[in-house]
Amino acid sequence: MTGRRERYVLLNPGPVTLTESVRESLMQRDMCHRESAFSELMGEVRDRLCQVYESEREAWTSVLLTGSGTAAVESMVGSLVTGVGTALVAANGVYGERMESMLKHAGKNPVMVRSDWTDPIDFDEVEEQLKQVSSIEHVIAVHHETTTGRLNDLDRLAAICSRHGKRMLIDGVSSFGGERLELDNWPIDAVAATANKCLHGIPGIAFVLMPRAFAEGLRAGAPSLYLDLATNFAAQQKGYPAFTPAIQSLYALKRALVELESDGGWQQRYEIYRSRSARVMTALGEFGIEPLLISPQDRSSVLTAYRLPAGNDYDSLSEPLLEQRIVIYAGQKELERIIFRIAVMGDLQEDDFQTLIATIGQACVS
Ligand SMILES: *Cc1c(COP(=O)(O)O)cnc(C)c1O
Repeated sequence: MTGRRERYVLLNPGPVTLTESVRESLMQRDMCHRESAFSELMGEVRDRLCQVYESEREAWTSVLLTGSGTAAVESMVGSLVTGVGTALVAANGVYGERMESMLKHAGKNPVMVRSDWTDPIDFDEVEEQLKQVSSIEHVIAVHHETTTGRLNDLDRLAAICSRHGKRMLIDGVSSFGGERLELDNWPIDAVAATANKCLHGIPGIAFVLMPRAFAEGLRAGAPSLYLDLATNFAAQQKGYPAFTPAIQSLYALKRALVELESDGGWQQRYEIYRSRSARVMTALGEFGIEPLLISPQDRSSVLTAYRLPAGNDYDSLSEPLLEQRIVIYAGQKELERIIFRIAVMGDLQEDDFQTLIATIGQACVS
């Protein structure tokens, strides 16, 4: 059981290639979530999540949910958007559009500011809508739109929100722990994220960060019982989760957060991701492979979308890579035939990139 497994290099946007120590953390003792030992573990993880961004120690709180990143996002928008027309969603990809669907499932009718997936958020239109629709309370956006690898400009969105007295709800699922988030400077009511992307844990636990004072004023009222933030927060504040959590996933998340801290925190992770992404881009450029987003400031450090080279479809790249136990990621929907994506999260080594680049070079048609 404990022998070395075949190592897979996951270059998809989560789950990630684990460190051995995170993997081993899964093998700890069986535990009941009503034991005081669990309460301590949960408390430590909730605190550590609030410290990833060095925000004032007491100013933020976190709520854990058992589910994938989507559970945290749905919990956030379902619990915090209270009126029918009180949210604006700025969407430029799959995940922004998914938040629109969540709100509609919850009987809400958000004001949508849509952009083409390859375009930035339409900030002028966001501002125009905020001027025209006084019922809007929350502006909702994705930080890193994984669809295209675009890092949406939250500085600009935050400035617009501040000017108009609006609060932000952020899908930070694929940026939390690897990109800059100005928790104390942006007008944020909540950020949703997950254990198994930039934090390098395993799937199973997702979470929502909120300013503590805001969280303490929450009332139950989400359309979902399981995902109601107020209910989950109140239970966790008393020391125990409302429902059975993914206990092993929490073991792994604690270990991963300890490693994030000892590795130098999110800033260090950001630098590593950036240098990995730059290296891959330079090498692929020599094969004539171009990034989808041309401007460097548009691109995240975490993931880059590349145009499929002429003559290659996705399978012609992904299959030879899979033979080398390297997993890349296809485009979604209308981008499926146009791009492939390479994420650089996880416990990756120099060799992995050499194999990646050489294999893609051989697979390229001309
Ligand atoms: C991965 C991701 C999600 C959540 O996806 P799950 O499959 O539910 O974990 C949400 N938003 C963004 C931006 C993501 O990259």
